[in-house]
This record gives sequence, structure tokens and C-alpha cells, in this order.
Amino acid sequence: MRFQRPILPSLHEAQGYWQSAEREQWFSNDGQLVRQFGSKLGQFVGEDIHAVPVANATMGLLLALRASTQAPPGHAVVLPSYTFAATGTVVKWAGYEPVFVDVDREHWHADPDSMREALEGTQKVAALMPCSTYGSAPPPEVVREWAALAEEFSLPLIVDSAAGFGSVDSEGVRLGRNGDAEVFSFHATKPFAIGEGGAVLTKDEELADRVRRLSNFGFGPDRVVEEEPGLNAKMDELHAALGLVVLETYLDVLKRRREYADTLIRDFATQGYAFQAGADSSARQFLPALSSSTNARNALLSRARSRHVELRTYFSDPLHQMPAFATAGRTGVPLPVTHELASRVICLPVYSQMDASVLARIGSLAS
Ligand SMILES: *Cc1c(COP(=O)(O)O)cnc(C)c1O
Repeated sequence: MRFQRPILPSLHEAQGYWQSAEREQWFSNDGQLVRQFGSKLGQFVGEDIHAVPVANATMGLLLALRASTQAPPGHAVVLPSYTFAATGTVVKWAGYEPVFVDVDREHWHADPDSMREALEGTQKVAALMPCSTYGSAPPPEVVREWAALAEEFSLPLIVDSAAGFGSVDSEGVRLGRNGDAEVFSFHATKPFAIGEGGAVLTKDEELADRVRRLSNFGFGPDRVVEEEPGLNAKMDELHAALGLVVLETYLDVLKRRREYADTLIRDFATQGYAFQAGADSSARQFLPALSSSTNARNALLSRARSRHVELRTYFSDPLHQMPAFATAGRTGVPLPVTHELASRVICLPVYSQMDASVLARIGSLAS
């Protein structure tokens, strides 16, 4: 049993949208499907939200970072080590140095105290880039602490919520309005799956325009590269057509994924596993479970292997232990929770469609 089994819309379902691109003979470059998709993504979160569809979340993070700071190369970006590699690789591609901070023991999102310690120990900082870890919404009070730090140190706050489109926080608010910009992925393995794709969401219309410009080579209205050279990071019409189809039934997808995760939690909680706090309304890309020890995790891994069920150990290695980031700016901020989670968390599959026998097969691994 594979760890991921993505379900994408069939081309047949996308045909109605795609026909309009064919009629116009317009397949990329801010076409009408991308515009429609962007506006529906924004509306999904709130009337005041601007959404710029992009080629993938990695590009979205890179552009959001470049669009929100003028800091010269060599500055630091503060981010958790406990995240997917892309959060760190974009920092390097933007010309900055990652400074890694720890996550909180309960909710597993970047710990504001650790961020403060890193900020006070680092000379030149360009931005803060915490994550919605595993796509779950951070507690609103933690997001407010991130924002207060950003304000105190006059830094932009970019939130990597790649796996979290549709996640809801403890105040009932959907992700997409945190920080100066929040970035989502629509990769095949994310809950909102179209193959490759992503979006940058922001309340700041000017920032959205800068991101859109940077995603299109940096062109101004006269096809002149104005302030800053951009990239090609545009979403094309075909992926936008798929995204429009996904949106039609996405609330049902979220509901099912949460139910499947809840079922697995019931099976594993009684066997000594703990779970990310505050994740009840997560989009549930998969289900990370905290085992009681590294030995217990390894035993579960080998039990799963012998029964042909693929499990994963995100995020091990954490970024600060990856060779590409080994020279990253060291603040000496200790990362005890990162080490503990990286050695004890094991991730269980959650698909958009799972029947009872599949869930039972995963649940039976608990003991
Ligand atoms: C998946 C993921 C990304 C990368 O998204 P892409 O769309 O594949 O570029 C970045 N950060 C996090 C935390 C992710 O989970």
C-alpha cells in the first residue's frame, strides 16, 4: 500500500473549463481560467484576500520572499528546521542564509521564544518564514506572536502553509490570511491536488501585484523588466482548469480526510501514540503520529514494511542536518523539540478516498 494515492480530476471533468481556453486559443499568461481560479481561491478564504496562482509552492515562496524584502544577499531568514526541504531551499535561492529555530512541543509550529532568541542573536535579518507544520493551522495566539515579532524587528512575515489549503484554526478561520503572505501547494500529494501548482495569498494588493509581476519575468505593462528581474513561475490554463474542478467538491474532500484521520487516531491513541495539538480541522495531508520512543517508531516501521504498508518519517532529517544547509547561519539556538520529533514521528497515509478495509489495515499496525 503506497503512502500516497492522489486523486486528480479526470480530463473529462475539466473539459467544460478547458473548452474556453481552446476557444480563446489562450493557454497561459494570465488567461481567464487562471484569473477565475485565483479569484475563487481568494473568495474561499475571504473577500479581502488576493490569490496569485503560481507554478508550485516553491516558486510561490521564493517570489513572496523576493517581493516582500529589499534586503541584500547574505541576510538571514528565520525558519524552523522541522519542515520540508523547500522552505530552506528557497531561502538559499533568494540569496539568503537560513537561521533555524525550534518548534513547540505541543503544536509543532515555530516557537516564538526560539524565534526571538534567533532574532536577538543575528545581525542582519531579511524575513521570518515560519510554517503551518503538516498543513495544520497554528494556534491564532501563536500567529499573533509571530506577527508581533515581525513588527518589532520590522521584518516581513511569510508563512509556508503548503499542505494547508482548507485547514481551519481554533477560531474557525481558514488559513490564507496569516502573515504578509501565505503560500499553498497544489502538488499531487497535497490535499488540494492538481499535479503541480500553488498560490500566494495576501491581503496586500500591492504585494500580490509584485508577486504576479515577478512570476512573469518581472515585466511591467510595456514588457520591460522594470525594478527586478523575475522568473517564469506562472500557472497555466490547464492546471487552473483542474483547480476549478477540485474547488467544486473540495469541502467534501476535507470532510473525508478529517474523518479518516480521526479513525486512525482512535486506533493509535490507545497504543501510546500522541498527535499534533490543534490539528482537528487540518486538511490532513497525512497523519503524523508521535511514538513513545525511537525504538517504538522503528518497530512500527518494520511491522508496516513486513505487511507492505508504506509509512514515512517526515521531517527526518530536519533541515539543519541536511548537508546543503550545514553551513547555514548558526545562532546556537537549541533545537531539542526538533530532534525529538524527528526521531519519534511517523506518518500514516491519509487519502481523499479510503474504504474501511484500507483504514483497518493501517489501524491494525498500531499494535
Ligand atoms: C509540499 C511542500 C512544499 C513544496 O510545494 P511544491 O508545490 O511541491 O513546490 C513546500 N513547503 C512545505 C512545508 C511543503 O509541505
